[in-house]
Amino acid sequence: MRLILLGPPGAGKGVQAKMLSEKYNIPHISTGDMLREEIKGKTDLGERTRKYLQEGKLVPDDLVITMVKNRLQKDDARDGFLFDGYPRTLEQAISLQELLVRANSRSPLHIINLEVDEATVLRRLTTRRVCLQCAAIYNVLTMPSKKEGKCDKCEGSLYQRDDDKEEVIKDRLITYARQTEPLIDYYKKQASDYVFISVNAAKEKEETFGEIITKVI
Ligand code: AMP
Repeated sequence: MRLILLGPPGAGKGVQAKMLSEKYNIPHISTGDMLREEIKGKTDLGERTRKYLQEGKLVPDDLVITMVKNRLQKDDARDGFLFDGYPRTLEQAISLQELLVRANSRSPLHIINLEVDEATVLRRLTTRRVCLQCAAIYNVLTMPSKKEGKCDKCEGSLYQRDDDKEEVIKDRLITYARQTEPLIDYYKKQASDYVFISVNAAKEKEETFGEIITKVI
């Protein structure tokens, strides 16, 4: 199974990705999580990309593309994967297509487009909390942890991402509209190469998950 989750920030890509990767037993590849790990570890890549994440801007394509190429070479991604937050630009989409053609993979690539209105996105992002240790996602209103401020899975501390502050969210949405939303048409136009699915992601996470798995072939 090879899946790509598309959708604006706050569409629920991370939440759906966790459920889907468990169901299909495929690695969840979140470029955002990978970049945050690099930043936390103060690696060279982390230092070069920190500013972009803080400002809600996209990291330059060459850096992300190299990171993803390296990730796809790991054994666990040989039989399938789920991308969350990648590709985000046309250049990334073209690079991914080339990589997959070269890998000669036969299973269809599913593009799952999560559709959600802006008011829902804003509400979800400003109330989202993430585990510092394992990146599990919570929401203080709709998905609170059992113990306030602590992760149910690993007891790590929950925090609000810098880019989940209202000023940065607006920039992320503009970036999405300019650079990532055009990918919807890009994939729709090549319907013979991809399975393109749109789902309503403004609903409860279980309902959206149910809609996805009935549409995945
Ligand atoms: P996310 O966790 O997917 O919301 O991503 C958080 C941030 O990481 C984004 O706002 C970007 O700064 C950066 N990022 C994640 N994925 C990509 C990507 N595919 N291309 C460029 N920047 C990315």
